[in-house]
Amino acid sequence: MYDDQNIFAKILRGELSADKIYEDEHVLAFNDIFPAARIHILVIPKGSYTSFHDFIEHASEKEIGHFFKAVSSITKKLDLGEGYRIVSNVGGFGMQTVPHMHLHIIGGEQLKSMHK
Ligand code: AMP
Repeated sequence: MYDDQNIFAKILRGELSADKIYEDEHVLAFNDIFPAARIHILVIPKGSYTSFHDFIEHASEKEIGHFFKAVSSITKKLDLGEGYRIVSNVGGFGMQTVPHMHLHIIGGEQLKSMHK
């Protein structure tokens, strides 16, 4: 079940502010409030999807294609240097804290390995 009181739903409705860097009819991107690197952007679909999994299962192919093209075009506008990381945390084991589908674009500096 989608919780329409989640933080990103409130940002989409304009009830909470966000430092927006890109917006179109279906997609919003804004700076993460607790950046993990010099550049840390969250990209969200405007549709009500709880997670990456829910988005892929229930969004239309057009919506999914549009979303990932928007992500790609956002990365091109950023000063990401020699590379970057895209992450989507899903569920409890994935440490997802906001139950609205989002991708993190993280970079702008040398990132650490993801291995323990
Ligand atoms: P996740 O833990 O993968 O669900 O990612 C949620 C992200 O949302 C975290 O990186 C938070 O720092 C970020 N976050 C939480 N509240 C806000 C907010 N009001 N504006 C921008 N980013 C936020």
